[in-house]
Amino acid sequence: MKILGIETSCDETAASVVEDGRTIISNVVATQIPFHAEWMGVVPEIASRKHTEWILPVVREALDKASLKPGEIDGIAATGRPGLMGSLLVGLTFGKTLSWSLGKPFIAVNHMLAHLYAAHLAADVSYPYLGLLVSGGHTIICKVAGYDQIEVLGTSIDDAAGEAFDKVAKFYNLGYPGGAVIDRLAEKGDPRAAAFPMPSLHKGEHRYDVSYSGLKTAAINQIDQFWNPSYPRTDENLAAAFQEAAVKILLSRLFRAVEDTGLTTVVAGGGVAANSRLRKLLAERTDIECVFPPLSLCGDNAAMVAGLGYQYLSRGIVSSFSETASARVEGFRKNGRR
Ligand code: ATP
Ligand code: MG
Ligand code: FE
Repeated sequence: MKILGIETSCDETAASVVEDGRTIISNVVATQIPFHAEWMGVVPEIASRKHTEWILPVVREALDKASLKPGEIDGIAATGRPGLMGSLLVGLTFGKTLSWSLGKPFIAVNHMLAHLYAAHLAADVSYPYLGLLVSGGHTIICKVAGYDQIEVLGTSIDDAAGEAFDKVAKFYNLGYPGGAVIDRLAEKGDPRAAAFPMPSLHKGEHRYDVSYSGLKTAAINQIDQFWNPSYPRTDENLAAAFQEAAVKILLSRLFRAVEDTGLTTVVAGGGVAANSRLRKLLAERTDIECVFPPLSLCGDNAAMVAGLGYQYLSRGIVSSFSETASARVEGFRKNGRR
């Protein structure tokens, strides 16, 4: 089964053809980064306008690269939630329209489940496992029993992991988007240059929750207090110290979940899963089998959407055309917290 995936939840216009949920035949990602860089953040109005301009050529390119005519695909999957409303509506409406006009089945998929599926495009991973979803808008530690069965254990109670990278990079004018820039600068810095405070390890319902506001405040407003004066105040040192703390916050909760659940396979997904320090520290835990998507599939792409879409469509699960976009998604924060 060849599924056309469409992804427009944020600032990447993407289309891909994936066969049988595993083999990527084409994968086109048109990034809008240059259009948002001036504002050091995604401007929703610009994002949806660019998606409208680019969606047709991007889908055409994905089909051309797969040497397929539209009628030769077996189904269409598009991201329906969560994301920027205006952006989501472009890809979702395009997908539904194509489905109706071609008479092919359609499924709207969840962007975060798609991020989790990305690792499955390159490796055989069996359920159950622990999921570590770390992106620009979400930080989720979850138990995963199937392609659409997750139980959220912990989330961020404030900023998402990627958001913290982006905000610190923005404040220090390091570049946009911040995560990849900090990762690159950190290679030449020393993490001991600053000793940022770690949030306390909570008990009870917050056992697996992370918090980034303390680290963000320390790195932005209280840097003098935490800087080690024997290190020069360079961007590289700042990046290394911040990244070290940001990654260790995540790992403290993740390792707790590993111990408590006895699940020793961890599957990562989302833009922050590209982080080299996160990958290195997890690889050092030889008692944990860690599966990361290839770097090209960590950030937003449509191959993960097509792959996840196959899991539904091959089981005969389809969406109705009345399915609409949703900026947020229930169940991805504990206790309905937003
Ligand atoms: P969501 O998936 O929650 O809707 P999003 O789609 O905007 O949000 P992604 O595209 O998955 O998020 O990831 C983008 C985020 O990943 C940005 O915050 C970016 O800074 C971060 N990021 C990218 N590369 C790295 C890296 N090497 N290290 C840390 N963060 C990174
Ligand atoms: Mg993006
Ligand atoms: Fe994403």
